[in-house]
Amino acid sequence: MFFPFSEVIELCWRYFSVTTVFSSSLLASAQRPEEVIQRYMEVVAGVPDEDCIICMDQLSNPSGYETPPTEEGGQSILPETVGKFIKCGHTLHMLCMLAMYNNGTKDGSLQCPSCKTIYGEKTGTQPKGKMEIYSIAQSLPGHPDCGTIQIIYSIPPGIQGPEHPNPGQLYTCRGFPRFCFLPDNDKGRKVLELLKVAWMRRLIFTVGTSSTTGEPDTVVWNGIHHKTEMMSNLSGHGYPDPNYLDNVLSELASQGVTEDCLKAPSSSSSS
Ligand SMILES: [Zn+2]
Ligand SMILES: [Zn+2]
Repeated sequence: MFFPFSEVIELCWRYFSVTTVFSSSLLASAQRPEEVIQRYMEVVAGVPDEDCIICMDQLSNPSGYETPPTEEGGQSILPETVGKFIKCGHTLHMLCMLAMYNNGTKDGSLQCPSCKTIYGEKTGTQPKGKMEIYSIAQSLPGHPDCGTIQIIYSIPPGIQGPEHPNPGQLYTCRGFPRFCFLPDNDKGRKVLELLKVAWMRRLIFTVGTSSTTGEPDTVVWNGIHHKTEMMSNLSGHGYPDPNYLDNVLSELASQGVTEDCLKAPSSSSSS
């Protein structure tokens, strides 16, 4: 199905490689959960006559969650406090949102449970590995006027971290290295740049149960579709596919990875 690796080396030149080793750097940069909530939500004075989308109880009733003990000097969130997201304006119990945040990866970002707007930089749970990018002269079916970008993802097996389904247990890696293809035109290169952002934010893969084999505790795709077949489309994951680039752009956007991420020189977590 794929070129033998040696042939790929001959056909292409390597121009990008990023190895991600997620020590504690990403996790350590996370702030106190209460601060994250208060950065992206403001307290509402007059409580609207609506239900909280998390607990489904009326906003005029207090949240059923308990206020967690706060560290010294920290500002706590009370069960009756109703908050409004600063951009989308959706309202809910701030304590319910805090509980939802504490159940997640605690990466300093929030996602409105109502409209899915992302606040801050959403990061995922992709294990450490390597993303390499090569240029291939050959064209993809459906893109006759340009060459091809080849991405190679390599992830070795390892031990699950606290952000994974079964911390301390092994995860397996089937079908790696995984070879993926994009047309080497303007739109394909834009997708590539966004995939690099998604890789650095640990959003391309996750550890879970394989939907094809049912195997648990294995590295799986995370909802951002890739084309793994170059010269045919027998699997449905190949070319031609005229809608692919638009589809993957919207999948990236739903993870908070948009063109805006390419403009700002990173570390713009305060907005
Ligand atoms: Zn609630
Ligand atoms: Zn919203």
